This record gives sequence, C-alpha cells and structure tokens, in this order.
Amino acid sequence: MAKVNPKFAEELKKYGSYDFYACFNCGNCTATCSLSTQESSFPREMIRYTTLGLEDEIKASLKPWECYYCGQCSTECPRNASPGELMMSLRRYLTAAYDWTGLSGILYKSLPITIIAFVLIFLGVIAFAFSVQFDLERMLHVGHLFEAIAIGTIGVVILLPNVARMWYFTILKPKAKVPFLKYVKSLGELFIHMFTQKRALGCDDNQLRWFEHFILVIGYLSLLFTTVVLNWFGTDSLFIIILGYVMSAIVFVVTIDFIRRRRAKKEEMTKHSQPSDILFVAWLFWMGFSAFLVRLFIDLDILDTNKWLYIFHLTVLAQWALVIVPFGKWSHFLYRSFAMYFARLKAKG
Ligand code: SF4
Ligand code: SF4
Repeated sequence: MAKVNPKFAEELKKYGSYDFYACFNCGNCTATCSLSTQESSFPREMIRYTTLGLEDEIKASLKPWECYYCGQCSTECPRNASPGELMMSLRRYLTAAYDWTGLSGILYKSLPITIIAFVLIFLGVIAFAFSVQFDLERMLHVGHLFEAIAIGTIGVVILLPNVARMWYFTILKPKAKVPFLKYVKSLGELFIHMFTQKRALGCDDNQLRWFEHFILVIGYLSLLFTTVVLNWFGTDSLFIIILGYVMSAIVFVVTIDFIRRRRAKKEEMTKHSQPSDILFVAWLFWMGFSAFLVRLFIDLDILDTNKWLYIFHLTVLAQWALVIVPFGKWSHFLYRSFAMYFARLKAKG
C-alpha cells in the first residue's frame, strides 16, 4: 500500500511551490503540454501525488525531469494553480532527495545559510591568499590545482553517489526490470541529452531558448576544458588563448540574456525565480566574465598590480564549485540527462 506523508505538500512549498491546492483536476495542463504523452502523462498526475502526499511515488517518478518549463500549462490553468512551477519545485525537491549529504535541501530552503556558506568560502580564499603572501604565481598555481581536484572530488564523492541514489529511487526500488545489456545499449541516449537537451525542442515556444541553452552548455564545458586541461591562464599557445577568450565570452554574453529575462519576469518560467535560480545565472556570468578579464590582464601584463581580480575570480570559482555545482541548480543538468536515460531504460524494460 502506498505510504502517505501528510506534510509533503507543506514541505514542497519550501522549495518554491505555492497554489497547487487550487487545482480542481480538470486536466487542461496535461492536455496543453506538448511533452506529455499517453505513456508519460504530466503535470496533473504530479499535482495529485503532491496533494495526496505520495512522496515515494514522487521520488520514483522521472516525470518532473521530463518537463522543460515552457510555462504553457500554467498559462492555460483556469485556477492559477501554477503546475509549471510545481514541476520546477519538484525538481528542486528531488535534487535534495537524491543528495546523500542533506546539504542540498538545507541550502535550497535557506538563503541565509547559502549566504553564510558563500561568506565562509570568501574568507577561506582570503586566508589562502594571505598564506601565500599574495604571490600571484603561487595563487595561479594553486587555483589551477583547486579546479582539477574540486572537479574530481565532487564528481566522485557527491555527484556519482547521488546519481546512484536516483537510480535506486527510480529503477531499483520500484522493481523496474532492466537487463544489463540495455544499460550499455542506451548509453548514447545519456550523452545526447547531456550535450543537446534535444527533448526541449518539443516545447512549442522553445527554439531560441533551446539554442541559447545549447551554446551555453558547449561554451561552459569548453571553458572548463580550456582552463583545467589546457591551463588557459598559464599557456603561451595563441590557439588556446583565443579559444579561452571565445568560450568565456560565450558564457558571459549568453548569461546576460538569461539574467535580462529573469529580471523582466515576462515569461511564466521567470516569474517565480527562487534564489537558487538567480545565483546560478549570476555566478555563471561572473565566472565567465572574471575568467575573461584575468586572461586579458595577463596578456596586458597588469594582473600582478591587480591581484584583487584573481582573488575575486577564485572566490567566484570556489563558491560555484563547492556550493552551486554539488548542491545547487547545476546538478539539474546531470539529473535531467540521467532521467532521460533511465526513462528510456524503463520503457525498454
Ligand atoms: S489545469 Fe490547473 S486546475 Fe486543471 S488539472 Fe491542471 S493544475 Fe489542476
Ligand atoms: S511547463 Fe511546459 S513542459 Fe512543463 S509541464 Fe507545463 S507545459 Fe509541460
């Protein structure tokens, strides 16, 4: 028998959801959603689960990840129950549920704790700069090392176990039978979704949003590769230097448009932004922009007299790597890609 958590709806409100009790189950939202199909129907079903407190069913579901928040369902809802925002809140809730450390839920629900974490990281960077007597060479060396170590450690210690928990909740616990060979044969699906998010093209409004998202993902991953593997700040190779400039410019220029849209609040998906959404785009912007300036200052030979810029960049980078990637919105990128993969496995199974 399904277990009911009577406090679930109240809990979900802490992740940003609000008016879903207004829903009278008419089904307009599901009918209007261009991604909802007969085999995988949403968002009405998720509203029912939420109001009934069927927490285990929600944890076992991949449907919240199948929604790309075009907002059409919220526009068409006769009761202003905001089903699109409910799906978004469920994604935040699931991110916290997958996270074995429990930190994701704490940070999502409390802006003051997030700010404290950011301040502590800033103080840590300043303490580090003092410890090396603000020696630029050493700061650049340790900064480069930090990036490589942070990526490896967070991937292995936080993100991989979280994906394993997601697999447990969505496939193993509900006893979905998937032969091992299917996991191997469907791997392509995982990477296609990770790099292209092609399912988002199915949303009626989504062509420009999809394109922006696509070049942002490519720009971000390429910038990561250029700085960590090709050592952008330390190289003399003209090709790598130009590549880094182009990729960092892609990141901050595209992010400006994301920030503009969130500030304008004209689209349904930008009307109810939570602190985690704003921090994500703002920090992405500062990361691309400060990286661009650091390399520019190196090329103009003025970074040594403007060390504050590198300290600022390192602070943004550390806050991004230690808070936003493992516990914040960045992890949506990973969970959504795995959700498409797992959904494919379940369908085949
Ligand atoms: S359209 Fe609105 S009222 Fe109708 S089922 Fe969806 S959320 Fe509920
Ligand atoms: S926000 Fe868009 S994709 Fe998500 S459930 Fe509503 S209509 Fe479907």
